Amino acid sequence: MSMSRRNFLKTTLGVGIGAGMLGLGASLLPTTAAHAALTTREMYVFGTLVNLGAEGDAAHAQHTLDAIEQRFLLMNRDWHAWKAGELSTLNAALADGRSMAVSDELASLLRGARDAAQASGDLFNPALGKLIALWDFQSDVQQRGEPPAAQEIAALCTSAPRMSDLRIEPQKDGRQMVSSLNPDVRIDLGGYAKGVALDWALDHLAAEGLHNAVVNLGGNLAIAGQRDGRPWHIGVRHPQGEGVIAAIDAQGREAIVTSGTYERFREWDGQRYPHIIDPRSGRPATHVVSATVIHADAAWADAAATALVVAGTQDWPEIAARMGITQVMVIDAEGGVGMTAVMAPRVSFVGARPARVDVV
Ligand code: AMP
Ligand code: MG
Repeated sequence: MSMSRRNFLKTTLGVGIGAGMLGLGASLLPTTAAHAALTTREMYVFGTLVNLGAEGDAAHAQHTLDAIEQRFLLMNRDWHAWKAGELSTLNAALADGRSMAVSDELASLLRGARDAAQASGDLFNPALGKLIALWDFQSDVQQRGEPPAAQEIAALCTSAPRMSDLRIEPQKDGRQMVSSLNPDVRIDLGGYAKGVALDWALDHLAAEGLHNAVVNLGGNLAIAGQRDGRPWHIGVRHPQGEGVIAAIDAQGREAIVTSGTYERFREWDGQRYPHIIDPRSGRPATHVVSATVIHADAAWADAAATALVVAGTQDWPEIAARMGITQVMVIDAEGGVGMTAVMAPRVSFVGARPARVDVV
């Protein structure tokens, strides 16, 4: 591959992906000339740019990437928090105090999200849909305008909707019935569904015999195997400004998921209100600007990365430990970096070394 790094990032992985989204949390970095051909696909789904790549027979890889693309489009429809689909139908039922029979896929997604919420001490809380809508983050475009009224935020903090309020009960006819004990529960899987999609895609690639592959959902990335006999070379986006702050090599089956407050935010009066909400205050989390998690299970990594942004600079190690996550890199608003001891040896900083690097 003779393309310059700049061109590679731009053409193969894309930048500038729509209003409010300033870039990718992670990307694939070029390595030295590769010999094994990579069949690639680029699409826009889950509100972000998606890149797929697989080594192997090109026709078979194309066919498999087609199937993944189709499945992603269905997932995006069925699991969308505010556009017509199965999840928004469920949310409408919960708003009316009704129960609803859901597909097995949605039931298992909700169970997985509920387990992750519980493990995170409800810092990852996808039952917060009402608060996320109140802050106007359920939108394709970047929002401006005054933050919501303190009273409205306080009311939702008091009613404290949680995943543990959900009842997901198999019926005699095999259907899964979902209801909520709390009328304020609305499900928003924006912090989780991409991880589930990553796991599904790698499972599908493996089932098709494609064992060297990459799936990048707007910076939430999962890889399998190797690239041209070497580890995949991954870049973690700098949370302040463009470019890459660190490079990480990965191989086997790993997800590298980054949650960043820079990805989407609302602006008012010179202040930014990022899209990740702290369920305790009902307000955007601002102390941690980026949390990168490496873990074999992408869905769990996705939930954890969101939870660690909420947890903040003091508490993230405790929440990571509770979730069984050992590889974390957190960047705070001052540019300081915190890492777990397992993560530290895997991270090579690119460019100027951060002002502070703490290994905990
Ligand atoms: P992520 O990029 O994975 O951190 O996901 C961020 C998205 O998750 C937001 O755009 C919201 O849709 C949703 N979200 C915001 N705050 C939370 C939270 N505390 N727990 C779970 N999901 C959240
Ligand atoms: Mg997440």
